[in-house]
Amino acid sequence: MTSILAHYSEVALKGKNRPWFIGRLVRHLHMALAGLSVREILTPMGRIEIVLGREATADEIRDRMARVFGIANYSVATRVPLDFEGMAEAIVSRLPPRESVSSFRVHVRRADQHFGVPSPDLARDLGSKVWHARGWKVDLKHADLVIGVEIVPGHAFLYMNEEAGPGGLPTGTAGRVTALLSGGIDSPVAAWRLMKRGCHVTFVHFHSAPFLSNTSQEKARRLAEVLTRYQLRSRLYLVPFGELQRQVTLSVPGDLRVIVYRRFMLKIAERIARHVRARALVTGDVIGQVASQTLDNIAAVDSATTLPILRPLVGMDKEEIIGQAQRIGTFEISIVPDQDTCTLFTPRHPETHARRHQIDEVEATLPIADMVKAAIAQAVVENLTYPGAASPASSAAPVIK
Ligand code: ATP
Ligand code: MG
Repeated sequence: MTSILAHYSEVALKGKNRPWFIGRLVRHLHMALAGLSVREILTPMGRIEIVLGREATADEIRDRMARVFGIANYSVATRVPLDFEGMAEAIVSRLPPRESVSSFRVHVRRADQHFGVPSPDLARDLGSKVWHARGWKVDLKHADLVIGVEIVPGHAFLYMNEEAGPGGLPTGTAGRVTALLSGGIDSPVAAWRLMKRGCHVTFVHFHSAPFLSNTSQEKARRLAEVLTRYQLRSRLYLVPFGELQRQVTLSVPGDLRVIVYRRFMLKIAERIARHVRARALVTGDVIGQVASQTLDNIAAVDSATTLPILRPLVGMDKEEIIGQAQRIGTFEISIVPDQDTCTLFTPRHPETHARRHQIDEVEATLPIADMVKAAIAQAVVENLTYPGAASPASSAAPVIK
């Protein structure tokens, strides 16, 4: 019987919440592997065994597993009986050709201590069989081929080479957050980093259609689709922002507009966050990257909301963020040219050191609550699911109080 044998990160999943964490992880695996001929998912002795049906294609399963947070590593494994000769025979019959590798080691983990032979002895004896069959040299540190044996009650798992999983914590175990998702490079990476830490992320995108093109909405949708491959179910709120911006231009001097826009974004996102029971907001801010991201301006926007604002990229370099965006799969979408909402009705040189009293003065001239309400009333929400197509129709957002 062929299985995928996976390990979760022990350290992260310790404590009395462990069964709950594992339950979430197993549920998530069922959803992530839907349609791929999975017979059942078991949890023997601190491991996860995904028992595959006949039609299962290991490549596709690997591809999906690579995005399930909480999985530390995994491999395609076979169950073998618990006797030495049986194990040795099973290993030797599965060895790759002599020329394909030059060194190996046998790694034994013994989850069932009732099995009489200590792990190092078993590894040595099985290794000797492999050496006789192939003549490869043993290398305990940098072997080309690692042969894994795991003893659980009733049988052993046998596998060749382990693949790294994405790590992190199972989706949803850390609660819910709301991410401000622009069409840029940074905010999708910021959202992903919170996902990796077990947060379920709801996306909010502000667009300036019909003042600007629809490109940014299309980009936000495609970015949300890529990110949904990691958390499987997402909601994307698309909030029209152009009319609100036009109103801002009537009384707010050009150099303060970006900060005022950003404060409105946070206020609107906060309302959405409370509606979906999210406990924090997430942005892609990086210290010093652009004019609106000086320490003074970050301080000036923070007071717009009482929710915590999480900025997971705050200390990263652009190169690091780009590398991560490429690995996640969002980079190619983010670099499609579009018109940034914040450039609408904004001068080239915005204020870089906004003072609290300046913001208070200009905001006092605006009917803030009404403007927030009007934008929310026109928001639409889209539901995304993976695996499966994004639901084609967007619906008017439910009334957000
Ligand atoms: P990004 O690459 O994420 O757009 P950026 O370097 O371009 O970031 P800004 O444009 O200053 O930086 O935006 C800072 C953060 O504010 C973004 O990371 C995002 O979280 C949020 N944000 C900006 N514009 C929008 C928008 N149109 N819709 C939603 N969130 C936005
Ligand atoms: Mg941007």
